[in-house]
Amino acid sequence: IMLQCASFDFYYFVLTWPESLCNLDPNKRSCCYPTKGGKPATDFIIHGLWPNFNNGSFPKYCDPKNPYDKNQVADLIGSMEKYWPSMSCPSNDGSKFWSHEWNKHGTCSKSVLNQHNYFLTTLNLRMKVDILSALKSAGIEPNGESYTVKAVENAITRAIGVTPKIKCRPDNWQQLQLYEIYFCVNTTNHFVPCNPSLDHQANCGSDTDQNIYFHKFDSDFS
Ligand code: 5GP
Ligand code: 5GP
Repeated sequence: IMLQCASFDFYYFVLTWPESLCNLDPNKRSCCYPTKGGKPATDFIIHGLWPNFNNGSFPKYCDPKNPYDKNQVADLIGSMEKYWPSMSCPSNDGSKFWSHEWNKHGTCSKSVLNQHNYFLTTLNLRMKVDILSALKSAGIEPNGESYTVKAVENAITRAIGVTPKIKCRPDNWQQLQLYEIYFCVNTTNHFVPCNPSLDHQANCGSDTDQNIYFHKFDSDFS
């Protein structure tokens, strides 16, 4: 039996703190709530599952002949609306975001995952990590206070067993805030330590003592 080999080395599994999509503009909220399900739960949301090479580069748009097809994921849409909502404006049902993620990244996982399995695998990875509880155990909560990058990393490492990469971005006061959490996942869908030579562009300042804000979802800004 010939096993088809993955044409990439590992995945980044990327989660987003939703408020960090909303507080970028001093004059108005820079996010829009989805048309289905209303305001997402106060929890991390999925950005995507991205095939990557060990040298830091990544394949994209690998199979234009296999576009996103909502019929192949019909049974998963309810979970995708809950855990993988689109926060872009204008308010939308998420199809554009899921289509983008499949076309850009999912098609590059195709030798391993078909369309249904790609979305299912991503949702299953989300079910395995409760970042908010991990952080809460270390006294880190989305209350508008700031915490060091190191404290955030350590809390997640202790709870999940692997060290994530933390990504930051400036909020509308130009203060660094917690934006995304990157995990490395191997081609059999297990969390693995990230290759230390791969320092993902994190924008969290020059050292792990940097303080970053963990904003309340919704109430810091109106
Ligand atoms: P950003 O510039 O916000 O970091 O990334 C923009 C987009 O580029 C992401 O949404 C994602 O599609 C892609 N991207 C950025 N960094 C990586 C990476 O390290 N690996 C992969 N596979 N995609 C990435
Ligand atoms: P990336 O290329 O960074 O993987 O995908 C991000 C693209 O999806 C951007 O073009 C962005 O406008 C769109 N998008 C739609 N909804 C969302 C969302 O809720 N979060 C993020 N990060 N991007 C979204």
